[in-house]
Amino acid sequence: MFEFMFDVDPEASEKELRTLVERFEGLKSKAAAAQARATALWAAKRAAAEQAAGVPARRRGKGLTAEIALARRDAPACGNTHLGMARALVEEMPHTMAALESGILSEYRALLVVRESACLSVQDRLTLDAELSELAQGFHGWGNRRVAAEAKAITARLDAAAVVERNNKAVKDRCVTTRPAPNGMVYVTFLMPLAQGIGMYAALKREADVCGDGRSRGQVMCDTAYERITGRGSTEPAEVHLNLVMADTTFSGRDDCPAVVPGYGPVPAAVARQLIGDALADEQAKATLRRLYRHPKSGQLVAMESAARIFPKGLAMFIGLRDQTCRTPYCNAEIRHHDHATPDRDGGQTSALNGLGLCEACNYAKEAPGWKVNTRDGDGTHTAQFVTPTCATYYSIAPPPPGTRITHHTIDLVTFEAA
Ligand SMILES: [Zn+2]
Repeated sequence: MFEFMFDVDPEASEKELRTLVERFEGLKSKAAAAQARATALWAAKRAAAEQAAGVPARRRGKGLTAEIALARRDAPACGNTHLGMARALVEEMPHTMAALESGILSEYRALLVVRESACLSVQDRLTLDAELSELAQGFHGWGNRRVAAEAKAITARLDAAAVVERNNKAVKDRCVTTRPAPNGMVYVTFLMPLAQGIGMYAALKREADVCGDGRSRGQVMCDTAYERITGRGSTEPAEVHLNLVMADTTFSGRDDCPAVVPGYGPVPAAVARQLIGDALADEQAKATLRRLYRHPKSGQLVAMESAARIFPKGLAMFIGLRDQTCRTPYCNAEIRHHDHATPDRDGGQTSALNGLGLCEACNYAKEAPGWKVNTRDGDGTHTAQFVTPTCATYYSIAPPPPGTRITHHTIDLVTFEAA
């Protein structure tokens, strides 16, 4: 269909290479524009087909955003953004689309314009699109911030009430999340209303201003936040439930394979052993040990001592430990549902083989008409096959548990619980 030259001549001069870098940047924008057109058309065709088939309006388009995301090798939860952006560009923002299509605006900057104008009516959005294009004159020298700020300013002028309402809606999305940081650390992020967030930060800074015990400002602020939120001293271990999975050989100090904390990721062996030591030293905490078994060939988890009898809680725990994150391809969200790959109603069993750890969005997506999920367990490798309504097939293989693969057939799960 399309044929581009993507070869890079090793003999090319610097000037030629610079030209190539520029050209490829333009191609990425053009490809993004074509992808948006294809996406919007796909959605329109799906809607027409569903209407013709008599699908009620409220049930149309179910699962389509997940299909779009998977086709882009992205997490299904991102599909909404991709489809929303495609529709906005194709139907409501001809100038922004033209800038993307000509290669002068990047896909990310087009997304910023779409995002900042999302609260506007179609008519206002058309006005913004024309005004921004007039103002930008080709977007020369405009960075990400400038693009977002100009779009935001026009949006606020066109419909101040819509912006206020959007801000009020955003308050509903307040939340706390974590993501791993290097060296056994973690980022804890609060998404909260501006005034509250700035107030919280100012309170921590005030604490650092009056402290003066030799700790750095950052250390005082972090310790204070921990003390006030947990009600414990900053040197006391957290009063929480924490699972730690490590090979028996690592537990006993015979090797240094990283352990895994579900929801966090790999933890160096030394840090894991220290966590266990701290838990054992803390009289209030109790550490319990569970033995898990892995397949001799694939190294994947195949069974869990005793807990399998506490059905279905034990089975859910086992699936959570095996899958670690949502099993839909490209989705790494936290597991919220333990679900049947083949549904109950179609004769699917409640078993480790037919069980899958999924996030909420993916669980609902796979329930949409035309989706099929199968699991198999050849050679101890748990594989889930996702087939979409357009017959695309995606595979997801359960990740390996901690420890070296060949030599250890059991691994230990250490669970810390507060008394
Ligand atoms: Zn998911």
